[in-house]
Amino acid sequence: MDFPSGGTGNLAPAGSVGPVDVAVVGSGPNGLAAAVLMARAGLSVHVYEAAEELGGGLRSTPLFDADVVHDRCSAVHPMAAASRFFREFDLAARGVELLQPEAGYAQPLSEGPAGVAYRDLDTTCARLGRDGARWRWLMEPLVRRSQGVVDLLLADQRRPPRDPLAAAALAARLPVHFGPRAMFDGERAPALLAGVAAHAVGRLPSLPGAAVGLLLGHLAHSSGWPLPRGGSRRIAEALVVDVVAHGGTLHPGVRIDDLRELRDATVVLLDVGPTEFLRIAGRVLPERYRRRLAAYRYGPAAAKVDFLVSEPIPWADPEVGRAGTVHLGGTAAETFAAESAVAAGRRAERPFVLLADPAVVDGTRARPGRRPVWAYCHVPNGDPVDPGELVQARIEQFAPGFGETVVARRSTPAPELAAYNPNYVGGDIGAGAVTLRQTFFRPVPRLDPYPTPLRGVYLCSAATPPGAGVHGMAGYHAAASALRREFGVRSLPPLGPR
Ligand SMILES: Cc1cc2nc3c(=O)[nH]c(=O)nc-3n(C[C@H](O)[C@H](O)[C@H](O)COP(=O)(O)OP(=O)(O)OC[C@H]3O[C@@H](n4cnc5c(N)ncnc54)[C@H](O)[C@@H]3O)c2cc1C
Repeated sequence: MDFPSGGTGNLAPAGSVGPVDVAVVGSGPNGLAAAVLMARAGLSVHVYEAAEELGGGLRSTPLFDADVVHDRCSAVHPMAAASRFFREFDLAARGVELLQPEAGYAQPLSEGPAGVAYRDLDTTCARLGRDGARWRWLMEPLVRRSQGVVDLLLADQRRPPRDPLAAAALAARLPVHFGPRAMFDGERAPALLAGVAAHAVGRLPSLPGAAVGLLLGHLAHSSGWPLPRGGSRRIAEALVVDVVAHGGTLHPGVRIDDLRELRDATVVLLDVGPTEFLRIAGRVLPERYRRRLAAYRYGPAAAKVDFLVSEPIPWADPEVGRAGTVHLGGTAAETFAAESAVAAGRRAERPFVLLADPAVVDGTRARPGRRPVWAYCHVPNGDPVDPGELVQARIEQFAPGFGETVVARRSTPAPELAAYNPNYVGGDIGAGAVTLRQTFFRPVPRLDPYPTPLRGVYLCSAATPPGAGVHGMAGYHAAASALRREFGVRSLPPLGPR
């Protein structure tokens, strides 16, 4: 790693362990995916993680009861079940069981039956009545070309699509998101679409929301919305085992405060966002690049609530209880209004809530009379509001009596999420606003989005394409770029367990 003139300074290399090929800063799914590729390419790899526990957004711990594990960040893994990195890495062959609920996601309504996206497309269509045929038109071509859709939307956004038919099917369906009530007779299908689009966390309707909605929406009917048996930490553990098996070394509890601590590494891969990059390297970055990084925009925040409950959630529509994930947004119009208010910096009176109920599919997560419930609502960036009452009231709206089952509750307001992980600036768990511009120019406009102006220094976090989620693809693309540019390696190492 070379610094511009005067940049090396005389600082003692505090984190240094002598010359190494690759230092990775941050052990989220992207950092670990990058480490896996680099170690498998035969390079010496050291991973530095600020937290005592590895995994970034893949950590799970008991919160109230030693026997009941809660996911601290991610809980549900449609992208880990589908992305190119994880397809090749093969979690199942490594003993990580991705458990599939009967329904990927559901969206209850104040009146009438809920929208439910079953794994089985036929069941979903049958239960949507007159809208079933239209739902099939929307989803079936994407399900048939699922790999092409996934590879397109989880690409580095710099290449033409490998499967042009998948791209065409996707492009033909994006407009539906902007007027779902025009296509469907009932409220359920539009609500389902709006709920998945809300994973983009921003103003709705929008083009990025439409793309996220169709990506996640169709996955419910293809590779599914699974939850790992035992919690998300199982995914991190499998990645860590692989890094170590290929000679890598992990350093939990080491926060890098100055990039110059890593000057003995040939290549540095940073699983950090622009704000943290500026903090640790601002002084040695060229002025123009520094200004562009500083202009990077963060999106609305999440405010999380973990519950310990005594019984399964008493949904007014019991079909909702078949889903691993529930979107509490009401109708499409209500969901769009709540998301747009938050994107404009206003607290929504009835915020959009995402809820995961791991015990629906994973018996090991429950004990008699004790089950975890994971939920968060969207709030303006940095909003200090305690989400406990807000989220509980929203669940109660669709599951009367829920409050009586709550044994314990713990709130994590947006600023606390930011303190938990420096990549969640202001509580933005997507590591940056999902705008059209920042879909492609993430974090700044560059031909190859991963290398930085500092020789040998690469960004590989969710603040680079393809953005947020547990897919490992930012790490994969960044490592591929570094292998090609710095080590002349053009064919990537195999990632499978054997
Ligand atoms: C509440 C919540 C719920 C979510 N739910 C889901 C979900 O269900 N499904 C899904 O796919 N995604 C979900 N996500 C998003 C997902 O967790 C992230 O998009 C993903 O973890 C990003 O991966 P990453 O590797 O880029 O960064 P992260 O996972 O954020 O990891 C970055 C790591 O870098 C470390 N770090 C940062 N700076 C330094 C430094 N200077 N020195 C050393 N270490 C440093 C941090 O401590 C952290 O461990 C959720 C996130 C949150 C917070």
